[in-house]
Amino acid sequence: ASPSPLSDLSQEALSDLRRSLREEYEALKGRGLKLDMTRGKPAPEQLDLAAEMLALPGNRDTTAEDGTDARNYGNLQGLSETRALFAPVLGAPADQVVVANNSSLALMHDTLVYALLKGVPGGKGPWSKDTDIAFLCPVPGYDRHFTLCEGFGIRMIPIEMTGEGPDMDAVEAAVADPAVKGIWCVPQYSNPSGETYSEATVKRLAAMKTAAPDFRLMWDNAYVVHHLTDSRPQLANILDACAEAGHPDRAIVFASTSKVTIAGAGLALLASSPANVRWYLAQAGRRSIGPDKLNQLRHVRFLRDAAGIDAHMDQHRALIGPKFAAVEQAFSARLDGRDVARWSRPEGGYFVTLDVTDGTAGQVVSLAKEAGIALTPAGATHPYGRDPHDRTLRIAPTFPKLEEVRLAAEGVALCTLLAAVEKRIGA
Ligand code: PMP
Repeated sequence: ASPSPLSDLSQEALSDLRRSLREEYEALKGRGLKLDMTRGKPAPEQLDLAAEMLALPGNRDTTAEDGTDARNYGNLQGLSETRALFAPVLGAPADQVVVANNSSLALMHDTLVYALLKGVPGGKGPWSKDTDIAFLCPVPGYDRHFTLCEGFGIRMIPIEMTGEGPDMDAVEAAVADPAVKGIWCVPQYSNPSGETYSEATVKRLAAMKTAAPDFRLMWDNAYVVHHLTDSRPQLANILDACAEAGHPDRAIVFASTSKVTIAGAGLALLASSPANVRWYLAQAGRRSIGPDKLNQLRHVRFLRDAAGIDAHMDQHRALIGPKFAAVEQAFSARLDGRDVARWSRPEGGYFVTLDVTDGTAGQVVSLAKEAGIALTPAGATHPYGRDPHDRTLRIAPTFPKLEEVRLAAEGVALCTLLAAVEKRIGA
């Protein structure tokens, strides 16, 4: 018989279930596991896919296509061949692309700092001159975006995700306040829900009337080439949509090769309007004389072109696809029919979102921890670490070995059901 929803169970059946789950849980603890599902890091085998890159560009191959010496200072915007390689990924012409060093998070950090200290095109001066500034934060979202805001005193306003991006009615209402200067967007295979913004969402973000004339879409397309299936979402081009809507400077697109080539030694990418790119380079030019262009050549030699990027990402998919499948299998084996949890079945990206029974996410994390399974803290997917429903957990299955992912996911599913049963009993 298929499992019944907890609400259909008698008190007696619930206590029986609790007793048997507790036994299983004690057995799990007895196994002395040490599993880590906290951060979306590539596994060593994924990094090995780029092993041959470490020998590139090679001793004698240091002249860029414009004839400059890639070993030397300069070229703040990045090599033209590297910008051309990533232009289609970013959806911008190569002359509106910046290729920087290894972290797109650093580019987002710098963009915020420059906006705070200097202001952005179309604005009335430094954002920091305003006593109150705020950002919209779609939830669940990426904790490091929230940490940036918190670190710089930018008030965060949570906005619910809908399955096709943020709740646009709520967004449009919120941007009527001139204090609201921007929004964080992970538009494709969002971290952590996995959803991709619909065309209607993209168009509304581009076209909406904002009280702040210098409002910015922080378009963090970190998972733009990170597919887990053959279906390819058609994410509308945000830079084109903004330009068409008469807001050419609204969006700044970010991406990186951290989860394409080497997580700690990839390339960070920025694309935007000509005015924003000029603005960004003017600020960045004080910070540095130029990026690591040998790494840029290395990436061009290794990935070559769009087809090369695709082929490389297929190899990632072959390694991590089974890990996502193992999570799905473990969750559905334990939780289907129980009506205690919902989870995402992402078609790309690095995460599964697990929504457990309201009020039990913290309990699930601590049960898992006692059983040797480290999960991202409950609340991390929300601004200030506060999930008002104590419901949402982010599962990161890429780093551990497949067998460990399976064990960890089975353990998390057990903890999820156990916490739901105990909440229902009032234990
Ligand atoms: N943005 C998102 C949405 C991410 O999930 C991550 C990595 N977890 C990053 C940015 C960080 O990217 P980078 O390595 O380029 O700093």
